[in-house]
Amino acid sequence: MPTQNQRIYLDYNATAPVHSEVMDKMCSVLALPGNASSVHLDGRTVRSTIEDSRDSISKLVGFPSSSITFTSGGTEANATIIKGLLDRGSISKVYCSSIEHPSVYEHVPPNCRIGVDRSGVLDLEQLAKLLSEEKAPILLCLMLANNETGVIQPVREAATLVHEFGGLLLCDAVQGPGKTNFSFESLGADFYALSAHKIGGPQGVGCIVSGTNTEPEPLLLGGGQERRRRSGTENAPGIAGFGVAARSILAGDRLRDVEQNRNKLEAELLAAKPDAVIFGQETSRLVNTTNIALPGVSSEQQVIRLDLAGFSVSAGSACSSGKVSTSHVLLAMGVAPELAASAIRISIGPDTEWAELEKFVDVWATL
Ligand code: PLP
Repeated sequence: MPTQNQRIYLDYNATAPVHSEVMDKMCSVLALPGNASSVHLDGRTVRSTIEDSRDSISKLVGFPSSSITFTSGGTEANATIIKGLLDRGSISKVYCSSIEHPSVYEHVPPNCRIGVDRSGVLDLEQLAKLLSEEKAPILLCLMLANNETGVIQPVREAATLVHEFGGLLLCDAVQGPGKTNFSFESLGADFYALSAHKIGGPQGVGCIVSGTNTEPEPLLLGGGQERRRRSGTENAPGIAGFGVAARSILAGDRLRDVEQNRNKLEAELLAAKPDAVIFGQETSRLVNTTNIALPGVSSEQQVIRLDLAGFSVSAGSACSSGKVSTSHVLLAMGVAPELAASAIRISIGPDTEWAELEKFVDVWATL
């Protein structure tokens, strides 16, 4: 069995490794004694690290720092917007794409989930039809890019449509930063959800970015932190780490390097097993993600055997129990259940070396 430092980590979409500068910053903030709500110097020192971090995220997203609300992660960010808008009465109903992350999907009844095509891209015609039949404003939840396949969604087009009908759009952008070039502002969503641990920051912290004056009802009441939008003592070390991670988002050449590795990996995987199927390959995807089915070998078997050989990858959809269920994303794309049940996700990062991927291909080809 390979030792920890012989392991090859190919599960960046689950969690990206924490940057060393993030760890340094977090340790220094953890050592501070103050509570950001206290008026004394110790409190003010913690407050200023939180506000520095808010500024870094503000620069990343191109929205004012007052539009950023820190949360415990992407799940809470999504829940706050969905439940908060319903509670406030700003919307009558919530729709989402049929490939959303469970932190959105689970809030939306099956008859309000909009289909995708075979490439995994939202059906805009179905959206337009639904909107024209609605009498009151709705919230559409549409992710920027799918966590399982990496397929990028037509957020801007959907936002334009939703706004024509007086509705709002929540874009779960958790998987976007550092994996595709985009500008938040040009997407035109009303709210964005982000999560630190997908961009080299710590687990357990994220934020909402608001691009609208509509204020959802807060999920958590109490001390009135975060402009009364999210009570609870701030996770200062986590927020500080999030800010550092936001400042080191990949762009330009480094994104292209990741993409080249991913494309070469896919070519080698298909050369080794010509009956394998890569999902979403024909459309725009995150540069780091491959979702591939190996007919006849279950996802669970592949993940376990790869794990024993020292590789960390995911089955499309793992429950918190670690048990694998067939991916609702692949099923929504019209993939046959047997094929979907043989898919795994490989997600790489800027530190993944080609030599590691070569080793991966050799082992995967023997499964
Ligand atoms: N949205 C997407 C697309 C995700 O991939 C994830 C995490 O896997 C989440 C939301 C949830 O984020 P968090 O783990 O910070 O709660």
